Amino acid sequence: MDIHEYQAKDLLGQFGVESPPGALAYSPEQAAYRTRELGGDRWVVKAQVHAGGRGKAGGVKVCASDTEIQIACKEMFGKKIVTHQTGSEGKGIYRVYVESAVAIKTEFYLGLVLDRSSQRVMIVCSKEGGMEIEEIAAEQPESIIRASVEPAVGLREFQCRDIAFELGLEGNVVQNFVRTLSACYRAFRDLDATMVEINPLVLTENGRILALDAKMTFDDNALFRHSQISELRDKSQEDPRECRAADRGLNYVGLDGNIGCIVNGAGLAMATMDTIKHAGGEPANFLDIGGGATPERVAKAFRLVMSDDKVEAVLVNIFAGINRCDWVAEGVVQALTENPVSVPVVVRLSGTNVEEGNKILAASELPVIMASSLSEAATSVVEAWRSHLTNGSLTRAVQ
Ligand code: ADP
Ligand code: MG
Repeated sequence: MDIHEYQAKDLLGQFGVESPPGALAYSPEQAAYRTRELGGDRWVVKAQVHAGGRGKAGGVKVCASDTEIQIACKEMFGKKIVTHQTGSEGKGIYRVYVESAVAIKTEFYLGLVLDRSSQRVMIVCSKEGGMEIEEIAAEQPESIIRASVEPAVGLREFQCRDIAFELGLEGNVVQNFVRTLSACYRAFRDLDATMVEINPLVLTENGRILALDAKMTFDDNALFRHSQISELRDKSQEDPRECRAADRGLNYVGLDGNIGCIVNGAGLAMATMDTIKHAGGEPANFLDIGGGATPERVAKAFRLVMSDDKVEAVLVNIFAGINRCDWVAEGVVQALTENPVSVPVVVRLSGTNVEEGNKILAASELPVIMASSLSEAATSVVEAWRSHLTNGSLTRAVQ
């Protein structure tokens, strides 16, 4: 799960990472009001979206008056911002953060990520702050400093000092940097983050180390033990299809193809997507209904897949162990009876109660195409999709 910059700054602040004073606003008027509360004479208005690269896309504006703040906000609120991290659809701006502008001496890059090959938290730093890490890696790879943390002992001060020296820091600033980096590590560890990125981390003209930007990503599987973080979820920034699925307890990932998939088990879902591709189709989603799925749950999954306009054919592929084919069939019948669909539906059932399942589908007289193996199912759904596209009509093939 991702959170906004202002939320990450607040969380990191609780661990000791300093950032400029700032305030959140939901309208241009509120932004101007909050700016007056902050005081000072230069501020930065920052669009709060779950993506970096806002600066280059007009999402970060330096302002020197009330009027400038309002103009900057009006250009942001309600608009979509498109950066290299948002995809072509962009992300909507519904909140802005106003922050005191800082006199920057040097900008650094600081990132903490989970390095799967070494199974450790990896610290990545560079003097080339402000640039994205991908750009730094491509253009200035020699500037990247890496350190990995031994989990049994945690991040040691000497490691932080080594990095500070490599970044060219001196005097009291070294201690400020050590405090900041240690705080980031504690936040990463204690909050079950998978990424903490401060870009830029800056050295100010008066020797302070401040986070001017902050990004945090959390391990979804650990959110149950951090309710204060789950609450920070902003659905306006997420794929609406994935949001609806998460609300219904379904494991769903939206993809770009047009064949909707309803499958049980992540492994079978992957295999189903591969087989669809092999048969010449493109999956529209990954959807795992899990074990012991009730007819209601299957029907919900069906409605969710059909709510995606791109879906032009559906494949239900169930290998029932804990699941029951009859329940799955009931769910499919329930969904199709309540909301008849105009696209081909292929169902392949196997395992527990398969005969009952097939009987229920046949008795329903719904236009469902049955298949007995995964490869047959994939070929059928791709063929049905193609002929549906050409004829615009449904192939009725209940057996
Ligand atoms: P993004 O990474 O999405 O482009 P940032 O928060 O990193 O957004 O802001 C982009 C740039 O704007 C920063 O690299 C920094 O130079 C400048 N900036 C951001 N916040 C401040 C601030 N409070 N004071 C001065 N400059 C800032
Ligand atoms: Mg940034």
